[in-house]
Amino acid sequence: MSPRYLTHLDPVYLQETARQIPYQRIHCDLFPAIEVWIRRDDLLDPVISGNKAYKLLFNLLEAEEQGAHTIVTCGGAWSNHIHATAAAGARFGFRTIGIIRGERRPVLSATLQDAERLGMQLRFVRRETYRRRNEPEFLSELGLAQPGILYIPEGGANLAGARGIQLLGQVIEETAPIDFDQLWLACGTGLTAAGLAASITRFSVCGVEVLKAGSSIQRDVEQWLKRLPKPYGAMREPGCTSNHTEADLFLNSTYHCGGYAKNPQYLRDFQKVFECQTGIPLDPVYTAKLMYALHRESEGGRISSGSRMLVLHSGGLQGRRGFREKVLSKRLQN
Ligand SMILES: *Cc1c(COP(=O)(O)O)cnc(C)c1O
Repeated sequence: MSPRYLTHLDPVYLQETARQIPYQRIHCDLFPAIEVWIRRDDLLDPVISGNKAYKLLFNLLEAEEQGAHTIVTCGGAWSNHIHATAAAGARFGFRTIGIIRGERRPVLSATLQDAERLGMQLRFVRRETYRRRNEPEFLSELGLAQPGILYIPEGGANLAGARGIQLLGQVIEETAPIDFDQLWLACGTGLTAAGLAASITRFSVCGVEVLKAGSSIQRDVEQWLKRLPKPYGAMREPGCTSNHTEADLFLNSTYHCGGYAKNPQYLRDFQKVFECQTGIPLDPVYTAKLMYALHRESEGGRISSGSRMLVLHSGGLQGRRGFREKVLSKRLQN
């Protein structure tokens, strides 16, 4: 399946498109003794890609319901969410404003250049300001607390976003080609992990944290799980208290590889080998760390032999450009 374009803002259409996403068996020697499949949500759309698409489209549906004409959101210079929001705004008829952390550079990142080309208005704010992005006064201080404006938090991490991820979870339950033991995915805010854990009952969910966050992702995920409606399967008999979180969701915090967007040589080498052996492109920030974690865990014998793992390709391939540019500019400086 080649990437297609999401053409309608409609949950039924999104669900139908999600049902067509292929599952691919991975044949290579990086995952000894286990069976690995990957669900290619990077192919959902060339620009509104991966898990961001599910979160974002449900936010845009919310905007439509509220009669909002403008989406305000925030992110860094290479943010997949900013990129997807700019593209989705252009496609579905919303004005978009991106609040970007840090100063405007003379040459914008490829992500922000795309965002501007797609019509997003960029507002650069100092890091101190950006840190307060989840506080209630944030928008009004920027003069953006106005009717007709919908604010989507960084990464699309809100309740509407979680509903989009739950749709993805239902589709995975329905379309999984075999009975998997675990679903592996990369975690940033943890919303995708929470949304999937709250909608999948057939196998457990294992999230690989890509940033050095202490226990904060775990805490956030638990908060989300309390707020999200559970799938039918998780509603056990009366009197049996649901321990859905503990039983079915695991977070692994040992594969951040130095921190968010850190890309050490061993990770670059692994990514190259994986891509050569499988032909599947990864992004350095999320999915490379995810596959690396699965590689190390299986190689170290920490996964029972014969386990059947499904990996979620959550997209983000536009971010690959950041790493090429960084390597280049470092080379030019030397
Ligand atoms: C944002 C992102 C994630 C993390 O999703 P969360 O819901 O924030 O945990 C994973 N993979 C890719 C490619 C992303 O862009």
